[in-house]
Formats: sequence, structure tokens, C-alpha cells
Amino acid sequence: MSSRPTPVIAIIGGGLSGSLVAAQLLRQSGHPLIIKIIERNPRFLHRGIAYSTDASSHLLNVPAGNMSVFPDDPEHFLRWGQSRQEKLVETPWVTAITASSFISRRGYGEYIASVVQEAEKASHPEVKLEIIRDEVVGLQPSETGATLSLQSGNRIYAEKVILAVGNFPAADPPVSDKTCLNNAQYVSNPWSEESKIGWDKIESCLIVGTGLTMVDWVLNLHASNFLGKIHVISRRGLLPKAHAQAAKLPLWLNYKEQPLSIRSIVRQFRKLMAAPEPYQDNWRGLIDALRPYTPDIWQALPLPEQRRFLRHLRSYWDNHRHRLSPITAASLKEIENSGQLQYHTGRVENFEFSKENVAVTIRARGKQERKTLIVDRVINCTGTECDYRKLQHPLVTGLLAKGWAQPDAISFGLSVAANGALIDEAGHKSSIIYTLGPPQKGTLWETTAVPEIRGQAFHLAKHLLNALAMESLKTGELLTH
Ligand SMILES: Cc1cc2nc3c(=O)[nH]c(=O)nc-3n(C[C@H](O)[C@H](O)[C@H](O)COP(=O)(O)OP(=O)(O)OC[C@H]3O[C@@H](n4cnc5c(N)ncnc54)[C@H](O)[C@@H]3O)c2cc1C
Repeated sequence: MSSRPTPVIAIIGGGLSGSLVAAQLLRQSGHPLIIKIIERNPRFLHRGIAYSTDASSHLLNVPAGNMSVFPDDPEHFLRWGQSRQEKLVETPWVTAITASSFISRRGYGEYIASVVQEAEKASHPEVKLEIIRDEVVGLQPSETGATLSLQSGNRIYAEKVILAVGNFPAADPPVSDKTCLNNAQYVSNPWSEESKIGWDKIESCLIVGTGLTMVDWVLNLHASNFLGKIHVISRRGLLPKAHAQAAKLPLWLNYKEQPLSIRSIVRQFRKLMAAPEPYQDNWRGLIDALRPYTPDIWQALPLPEQRRFLRHLRSYWDNHRHRLSPITAASLKEIENSGQLQYHTGRVENFEFSKENVAVTIRARGKQERKTLIVDRVINCTGTECDYRKLQHPLVTGLLAKGWAQPDAISFGLSVAANGALIDEAGHKSSIIYTLGPPQKGTLWETTAVPEIRGQAFHLAKHLLNALAMESLKTGELLTH
């Protein structure tokens, strides 16, 4: 009998996606296996960007009843939360742990870490998890696996590789003089540790973008007793809507019927909004009814229709679909009513930095004239960068340059097969490199939140373990013949 080395699955990125797929591999594998998570930022291990925040005001934007990480155990998070009630209840933000409660993202980070720990404890004795603190800067595939190059100079060989590299900070605003963006008064990455420094000397700021990261920043500044003026600007001035009670509705779109177009979807949506109860004005119910089918609907849309959605509807979809907890929305309104927070609608055209402050040139939406806003600091909260060709990420740049990966058709992530396998420049499906979560955005559209990532993690682990078993069988047969 031949003894083959234990197969290795390398997971690049230890945020939510990397941790969930590791937990699934630990739970599902009945054979010897080494799982290696390589995470470059220790603060992000099992938390990633979303769940590494310390602020108790940063709440989940999905109720606890839908935040289990296990698709086959929908109440898992709720039970976990209820068993830690005394730690997770933090008034005024979290007053109870029920299915409809919005719990802190910090608490959710602890949940993810505990899920991995539990899975490790209960795993097959020959299934091992290793955590490596390093950055993967390159990847060289071979016929049977891939060799990863790490920032430290070390190398790792793995039979299968999972890119769980997640969300990337936003691109900078398209100002005419890009060199000015190197100035310390400009915060390019709102999730960096440096962005939190030096606020005691600041009297006013401008946040560019009106999405959920803007909300995080406003609440953080308020909680840290920042008394200065907070200006916020976005092109359309659309703010995230709030969660509220809404009647549940059935799927109302027959997306299998062709031709499917954005125009026809909007027409049906408007018709239902005008229909009697429970449809009448129930936009939350209508959007939530599409949620489990959004990836299928997205894939049923022809490419020109996907592009039409991005041009005309995306901002409206985003601010209705990614909603705030009621207390978050109320707190934001309170800060606005106090006069501290002021919204602007328009485009940032230029920044002029001086020793004292930043002069921001703004062109109001639909107008020719410009106005100048004088602030002490500017924070870029314009959303995550999804165009992988624009990223400064050595691993991704290398994969694209060598043609082992390619952007998807709308450049919102990487081109992937239904099982998460990367599709290379020549159109071949990889049997070695896979991904899940945010890199699949262009292919699936709805893929960045827990309810989608938990299912992907389950299926990807299952697929990889089956593939390793098949490959091991083949090698065994070759050795015995
Ligand atoms: C601020 C915020 C709040 C959110 N709130 C919610 C919510 O309430 N509910 C919900 O369902 N969803 C929420 N989401 C969405 C969702 O949970 C995230 O998209 C999800 O956490 C993505 O996880 P990830 O592991 O794929 O990515 P990330 O969290 O971005 O993690 C990727 C990790 O990979 C590491 N990495 C990247 N490249 C390398 C490399 N080359 N080598 C080593 N390590 C590397 C990074 O350091 C990082 O830790 C939120 C997202 C954000 C950004």
C-alpha cells in the first residue's frame, strides 16, 4: 500500500468567507486533510472588514434570525446569541436578542471565531487547521495543485486554493489632480487603522459617499464626541433606507420567461406597488421576495440589461436593499436634526490642500455652477472597488496578468463557474483555484452578505472534498496498476 501525503487546501483570506469555508471543511471532511488559512491582517482573522469593528453602534444590517452561518440550521446564530445575552445586549443599541434584533457586528465577529473553534474541536482527528499570518503575493498553478508565494518569502503547496480575498477599498474620486490624494488630510481607505488618527484637532470633515460605510463613520464620530461639522456628499444623495415591519410576499417575477428586461421588471414592480394590500407600497416585501432568487434573476438578464441596471437602477437598488436597523436610522436622523450633519448632492471635482484645510470643489447635481466647501479632512466612503483590473493587489494583478483569472463580463469581480472555480483567459474552468463571496459579484450580483456566503461555503467545501476523494482514487488506481 502506498502512503500519499495528506492533501492541503489553502484559503487565502481569513475573513467571513475564508472562515466559513474552513469551518465547513472541518465539519464535512472524514479523511486526513490540512486546511491552511493565510491572513495578512491579524485584526481581520475570522472577522474581515465587516466584523472587526470595535464600535457598539455598528450593528448588523440583517436581523439575527437570518444570520446563522449554517444553511441547515437557521437558528444557530440566534441560539448562540441568546446564550450570551448578557454580553451582547448593549443599550441603547441592542436591547434584546430575538430573531428580529440587530446585533453588533463586533458580537458577530466573535460568533464567526467561535464557529471555527467549535468545528475544529469536533473535526476528524486527522483534519488539521493551520493559521498563517502572511500575505499571499503570487500563485503558480501546476497540474495537480498550486504553489503560493508569501510576502515573507515562504512558499506553500496546496492541491486546492480558495481565494477568499473579499472586499477592496473604494477607488479615489475622479479628481483632476491625483497627486493631491497623497495628502494626510485625505483618507483613501475608511477601514484602515490610520484613518482613525488625529481627530482631536479636526473641526470639520467631508465624507464622500452615502452608503453604509458613511453611516458607520457618522456614528463613530458622534460616539467619540466629535463636535465638528460633518458634511456628506454623493452624486444622487440617496441614503440607505431603514428596516421596518413589512408583510412577506411570494416571488412575483417569472424570471424564467424570456425576454427578461429591466424595463419589464420595473413595470411589474410599479404595478404591484399600486395593487391592494399586502402589495400596496410594500417595497420592502417586494425586494425581499426577490432576494433568494437574485443570483438566478441576474443570470437570466442579458448582458445589455445587466448594464442598463448598473446605469439606471443600481443606486436605487442598493439604498433599498442594504437597509439600516431602525435604531441606526433614527440615530442618523437625530444627528442630522441637531445640525451637525449636512447632506449635499453633487460631484466632487477637485481638492485643494493647504496646511490648514482642504478646499473641495463641488458641482451640484444637474447644475453648472460650482461651490467650494472648506473642511479639515476628507474620507472616501464611495463603496468597494470591484473592478479587479484597477486593484493594487499583487496576487490578483499576477493572476490577471498571467491569464489564470479574468474579470467577469461587467468587471465587478472575477469570471467564475457555478461551483466557484475560476475561469481563465482561455475560458477553461480551473480544477485548482476557486473563490466565494464578493469576487463573484459580477456573476451573481447578490453574493456579498451572510445569507449567500453561508450556502456557497457549504457547497464549495463539499465540492472540494469530493474532488480530492476522486483524485486520490485515481492516483491510487494508477499506483496499483
Ligand atoms: C462594513 C460592512 C458591513 C457589513 N455588514 C453586513 C451585515 O450586517 N450583514 C451581512 O449579511 N453582510 C454584511 N456585510 C457584507 C459581508 O458580510 C461581507 O461582504 C463579508 O464579510 C465578506 O467577507 P470576506 O471574507 O469575503 O471578505 P473580507 O471581510 O474583506 O475578508 C477578506 C480577507 O482577506 C484578506 N486578504 C486579502 N488578500 C489577501 C492576501 N493576498 N493574503 C492574505 N490575506 C488576504 C484580508 O486581509 C481580509 O481579512 C458587510 C460588509 C461590510 C464591508
